[in-house]
Amino acid sequence: MKTVSHWINGSITTDKAAQVGEIFNPATGKVSGTVNFADVATVDKAVQVATDAFDSWRHSSLTKRTQVLFAFRELVNKNKENIAGLITAEHGKVLSDAQGEVTRGLEVVEFACGIPHLLKGGFSEEVSTGVDVYSIRQPLGPVAIISPFNFPAMVPMWFFPIALACGNTVIVKPSEKDPSAIMFIADLLKQAGLPDGVFNVVHGDKVAVDALLNHPGIKSVSFVGSTPIAKYVYETGTKTGKRVQALGGAKNHMIVLPDADLELAADAAINAGFGSAGERCMAISAIVAVEPIADALIEKIKSRATKIKTGDGTTGADMGPLVTKVHRDKVAAYIDAGEKEGAKVVVDGRNVDVSGDGFWLGPTLFDNVKPNMSIYLEEIFGPVLSVIRVKTYDEALNLVNAHQYGNGTAIFTNDGGAARRFQNEVEVGMVGINVPIPVPMAYFSFGGWKNSLFGDSHAHGTDGVHFFTRGKVITSRWLDPSHGGINLGFPQNT
Ligand code: NAD
Repeated sequence: MKTVSHWINGSITTDKAAQVGEIFNPATGKVSGTVNFADVATVDKAVQVATDAFDSWRHSSLTKRTQVLFAFRELVNKNKENIAGLITAEHGKVLSDAQGEVTRGLEVVEFACGIPHLLKGGFSEEVSTGVDVYSIRQPLGPVAIISPFNFPAMVPMWFFPIALACGNTVIVKPSEKDPSAIMFIADLLKQAGLPDGVFNVVHGDKVAVDALLNHPGIKSVSFVGSTPIAKYVYETGTKTGKRVQALGGAKNHMIVLPDADLELAADAAINAGFGSAGERCMAISAIVAVEPIADALIEKIKSRATKIKTGDGTTGADMGPLVTKVHRDKVAAYIDAGEKEGAKVVVDGRNVDVSGDGFWLGPTLFDNVKPNMSIYLEEIFGPVLSVIRVKTYDEALNLVNAHQYGNGTAIFTNDGGAARRFQNEVEVGMVGINVPIPVPMAYFSFGGWKNSLFGDSHAHGTDGVHFFTRGKVITSRWLDPSHGGINLGFPQNT
């Protein structure tokens, strides 16, 4: 049985924790270890260490910072399988998917390697006679990153490479459900030459999160998780004067227009609906079929869904278990509710046949889902696809725009004009055109609208660089022989 503890000042802490959590292997249903939960004193210690390390790290050269990031990139690349193994053992997603998440995280590291260019300021010469103005961006200080269970490596990697590259020090509070991947990553950062104290990890639950939110030494909070907690983190963090970006839950619609390639659309629905057992914030969960294609589309999705092999993610299955028994039962309860509310169960994942005590649930497909049903209104975060039948494009668009969430969406069509109109009219942060999971590359920014994001900054890309830095503008005049004398008027350019 392993014990996972905090990573503070370049090593794992050995103090006994007053409170611990259990870590499960979702494919066996067995406890595989425990994780120490941080109390307020432990968080205080981590913040102190990150504060002490800040001055030296912020003054390290851009060359030094990028050298660390380049070395880290190589180490993560070499250890991709090890990190993926840790993820699958605690999250349950299949190994190839776990490797995919590490690869997407690495893209942000590669983006952050270009920080010298990204941090270049502007310079205007002679804005007034003999006066120059220039802008620079400076780090914030110790920053906190609070991440969800579904991407234990990638979500922290959306933020910390850029935070570090900009000269900040970091404290990550990962999900208590799968805390091991980030510990491995912390060790790789040390091997890459990152000075002790610059990157720290505290484990735990609300106690640790609240301690970070209320600590005056923490300058910003990057949160990813469910909407109620995202809203709470945003409100609490901003109240204590911090910069906060809090990414929340989702209900992603895929609109299929009558002229779409239905084979492509069915493949996309399956991949985006059931990949990672639907535990992705960019998973498709609502398919809006614009008639007359619903019957044909549902048939194609059904025939594919029944062939999906659910099983242990280390043994070549297509889809792994859900993360915990509680979550598995919650998703199953949504399926019960959908059936009770009158939706038609086309494929039923509740009685999937997998041996052992894992947290299993097979792919589920609903037809005739109505906009007032709980399975449509709420985020399920499991392998459940709902088909809503509509008559027109406008009806489809109105559904998406009326929904409380606005993280991702996709349209499937061969009509460029319709797709262009959709990208313009839809009220969602990330849009796919014949692409079901439109996760932006690292040099663009990731984030939703409405209840899918609280705050003004999306993750990574130039938004990330702006979030982790403060702008400063300097107006300078070096002494020359032409003194202007006293003038109490507001400065004007001459
Ligand atoms: P969660 O909200 O339960 O937990 C997220 C983090 O908050 C964890 O570190 C957890 O320990 C902490 N936390 C939980 N309860 C808390 C409380 N009461 N007070 C303070 N902190 C608390 O989310 P989860 O179940 O780990 O992750 C799934 C959710 O994350 C889904 O809703 C999913 O859509 C969302 N998500 C969103 C994005 C995005 O980019 N928008 C990406 C990934 C996941």
